[in-house]
Amino acid sequence: MSEYRPSWLTEDLAIFQQSVRRFVAEELVPHEERWAKQQHVDRETWLKAGEMGMLCPGIPEEYGGGGGNHAHNAIIGYETYRAIASSMGTNVHSAISAHYILRYGTEEQKQRWLPKMASGELITAIAMTEPGAGTDLQNIKTKAIRDGDHYVINGSKTFITNGYLADLILLVCKTDPSQRAKGISIIVLEVKDLPGFRRGRILDKIGQKGQDTSELFFDDVRVPVTNLLGTEEGKGFVQLMQQLPEERMFIAMNALGAMERALEETIKYTKERKVFGNPLLDMQNTRFKLAEMQTTVTIAQTFLNDCLDKMVRHELDAITAAKAKWWASTQTCQIIDECLQLHGGYGYMLEYPIARLYINTRPMRIYGGSNEVMKDLIARTL
Ligand SMILES: Cc1cc2nc3c(=O)[nH]c(=O)nc-3n(C[C@H](O)[C@H](O)[C@H](O)COP(=O)(O)OP(=O)(O)OC[C@H]3O[C@@H](n4cnc5c(N)ncnc54)[C@H](O)[C@@H]3O)c2cc1C
Repeated sequence: MSEYRPSWLTEDLAIFQQSVRRFVAEELVPHEERWAKQQHVDRETWLKAGEMGMLCPGIPEEYGGGGGNHAHNAIIGYETYRAIASSMGTNVHSAISAHYILRYGTEEQKQRWLPKMASGELITAIAMTEPGAGTDLQNIKTKAIRDGDHYVINGSKTFITNGYLADLILLVCKTDPSQRAKGISIIVLEVKDLPGFRRGRILDKIGQKGQDTSELFFDDVRVPVTNLLGTEEGKGFVQLMQQLPEERMFIAMNALGAMERALEETIKYTKERKVFGNPLLDMQNTRFKLAEMQTTVTIAQTFLNDCLDKMVRHELDAITAAKAKWWASTQTCQIIDECLQLHGGYGYMLEYPIARLYINTRPMRIYGGSNEVMKDLIARTL
């Protein structure tokens, strides 16, 4: 993106991108430091984002969304990571949770939840990971046992993005604990004043400190069976597998935003910083490093543009998405590490953007399916 104009970026999307960039600069960037201290975004910002059309842009207008496609979601992720203003969990809310409800929800569920998600009145989280089950998702222990017209839910989740603020939680649980994948369902919990539901700590992370990543606890929580996402139990794992390629592609686009910003910051810094009387950029090592990084960024733009084109056409396959996710997240971490090195000691100071990029991008190699798992998926097709 930046000077580069990808083929999926239509005139309408370019206008949308400008308004996202403005919103990010005016409503997110100035608050990031304060949010990092309080460990969460202000709820009012979610409402403002809703007013400005920044939430659920890929959801049809009849459900309150922007009527766009996944390119709209990708732009938001890319812009927030480029601006180092990713505390607001819009990826999880708009690009992931909303599309689960759109794709698998009943008409009643879509009408009930999507318009309020688009307005920011409802903030969502998707809760898969447990203390004892991350990558091995089929081994989750949180269970929802049917009791008449209700499910009784017991268990706990950890590392949940938007966990502290969430009003609506897409809970991945076992409706049949005797099974692995086939026992998994997604149940949508409206958690306001829900007896037995409790939030734990907002977790103290290395970076992304303004993001309210939390623990969640469920003790005999009762929800109506109509809160099962869709109409059939045991479909949760298939639903997750179908949606994960898109989630991985969004992570890759976030990585692209971060690597472009890192390079831009470092070129600027090395032009200004004098060593031995000359700009740091004049040293051959600096020039070679930056030339290599710029080449990588160009390759990333070209590859990810192609992937996004495919995603918009609903043609992105799981293996290509896995390649995009592991490669882009690895490259961004490498580039940012090299860029930090070129900043010297200043690179280690949080007031410098490169330091914040360094801590914020690290988990990209872990979440959304770890990079090792991505390579395993690819290797299985060899
Ligand atoms: C900032 C952040 C936000 C998150 N947000 C959410 C969220 O909103 N919702 C949610 O549900 N979860 C979320 N997660 C959790 C994330 O998805 C998990 O951390 C991730 O799936 C890895 O699981 P784990 O931490 O249990 O690691 P483990 O599964 O214990 O993995 C440990 C190591 O073993 C490796 N490994 C595991 N299996 C294999 C294998 N088969 N082959 C080779 N290596 C393997 C992994 O790659 C990893 O390096 C978040 C995590 C972070 C850090």
